[in-house]
Amino acid sequence: MADAFDVVVIGGGPAGYPAAIRAAQNGLSAACIDEWKNRDGTFAFGGTCLNAGCIPSKALLESTELYHRVREELPTHGIRVSDISIDVATLQKRKAGIVRKMTDGVAALFKAAGVTGIQGHGRLLLDKRIEVSAPDGSRRDLLAKNVVLASGSAPIELKSAPFDHQRILDSWDALELASAPKRLGVIGAGAIGLELGSVWRRLGSEVVILEALPDFLATCDQQLAREALRHLKRQGLDIRLGATVTGAKVAGDTVAVAYRDAKGEQTLTVDQLVVAVGRRPYSRELLSSGTGVELDERGFIKVDEHCRTAVPGIYAIGDCVRGPMLAHKGKEEGVMVADLIAGRFGEVNYKAVPSVIYTAPEIASVGATEEQVKASGRPYKVGVVPFLANGRARALEAAQGFAKLIAARDDDEILGVHIVGPFAGELIAEAVLALEYAASSEDLQRTMHAHPTLSEAVHEAALAADKRSIDAINR
Ligand SMILES: Cc1cc2nc3c(=O)[nH]c(=O)nc-3n(C[C@H](O)[C@H](O)[C@H](O)COP(=O)(O)OP(=O)(O)OC[C@H]3O[C@@H](n4cnc5c(N)ncnc54)[C@H](O)[C@@H]3O)c2cc1C
Repeated sequence: MADAFDVVVIGGGPAGYPAAIRAAQNGLSAACIDEWKNRDGTFAFGGTCLNAGCIPSKALLESTELYHRVREELPTHGIRVSDISIDVATLQKRKAGIVRKMTDGVAALFKAAGVTGIQGHGRLLLDKRIEVSAPDGSRRDLLAKNVVLASGSAPIELKSAPFDHQRILDSWDALELASAPKRLGVIGAGAIGLELGSVWRRLGSEVVILEALPDFLATCDQQLAREALRHLKRQGLDIRLGATVTGAKVAGDTVAVAYRDAKGEQTLTVDQLVVAVGRRPYSRELLSSGTGVELDERGFIKVDEHCRTAVPGIYAIGDCVRGPMLAHKGKEEGVMVADLIAGRFGEVNYKAVPSVIYTAPEIASVGATEEQVKASGRPYKVGVVPFLANGRARALEAAQGFAKLIAARDDDEILGVHIVGPFAGELIAEAVLALEYAASSEDLQRTMHAHPTLSEAVHEAALAADKRSIDAINR
């Protein structure tokens, strides 16, 4: 007889594993099937995020930023250090240790919550039966009252620059390099391309980032994007906009990249090339025929706003469905469906999904950009406060960038907050909460913020929206 569960989740990434844990918290029997295999052959829960995405990239960003600051910044503090060097093997070992602790942590959480974690490939058959193929080739079926599909995404491969994983790399390859290439090319100036480019630039690579779009961070608030571009260029990232790659040829130890820009055909020779042009939904061998679960033309599993597919009791969440491909968005969807399955209230506020790029300075946003608000025709006001006016940022030697708050003129509702500056990724949490509670700029203005903290910049931006900033000049 097949094992039966109230909820079976296929995929143990940041969307799937929270769904399984919340289902168990709700008193349901839950299993989570995952097939992730690391390059050393070991199995791990946590999906792309923990194994090859959010966590390893942040570990490398932290080490390399520290290295950069020790070299460039410590003399400003009067701290003299000599013989500074960095050992990439140690840095990679630290990263691997963090990843292992985090992925082992998911297995421990499953155990504590009573979730059955299963290693293997899951395929949805008819009538909510799931076939599990274990790595040893054995097969078994599970029966589920409810199924949650959380199969994630995979890097997009360019026909003009196919991965060979030696010279032409995907983002995972680029996190695993044993040494800094002398010349590194990156295709795509999105979050992943900028973060990976920053890591290897700080370790000494000459980094050229080719971006097909003419605008930098085209979907971001453009005032924010312009400020970020200025800082990133100053760090030596050679970001070329409007540059469409037409081909990449590996010749010996180098890659010849052909691209077209406003001036015509160009070539660039690099030692390694990272293709970071986005990710596509992943659903290989996930659905047998006749399940009734539909994919859209781009391969995303079709769902409604509650992540329900067309088949009752079958849900899909995370990167394999519409919406931003972000770990926290998937996590909230996982929690929502597990609550809905248990007959509880569940909802995701898609208007309050923060996005963060972990460069230095960090770039963080939530809500509408000024361009979007302008296009909507709703009268609005803007407060912008530079970190130069923030004492903590000065003390941190990180007085770069600004906090920007956009609020409606009619009812003062906060519509968007955009921050480029130190710890912007942490500061944005206050703005997310403000949007979640439909706060007005006056609500933030009247909220006390500890001094001296970076969070005062958000407070002052709210005040500046009404030209009442105390610590910055109102414009
Ligand atoms: C370099 C990089 C940096 C990133 N940084 C950030 C960041 O800072 N912040 C952020 O929010 N997001 C970041 N992301 C994006 C983030 O990793 C994804 O949005 C997130 O992992 C999506 O979660 P998921 O659970 O939907 O899918 P995944 O994390 O891809 O997990 C899906 C899991 O399902 C398994 N699976 C698939 N099909 C099956 C099957 N049939 N049977 C069994 N198992 C299956 C896969 O092996 C995988 O383990 C980054 C991504 C990359 C590549």
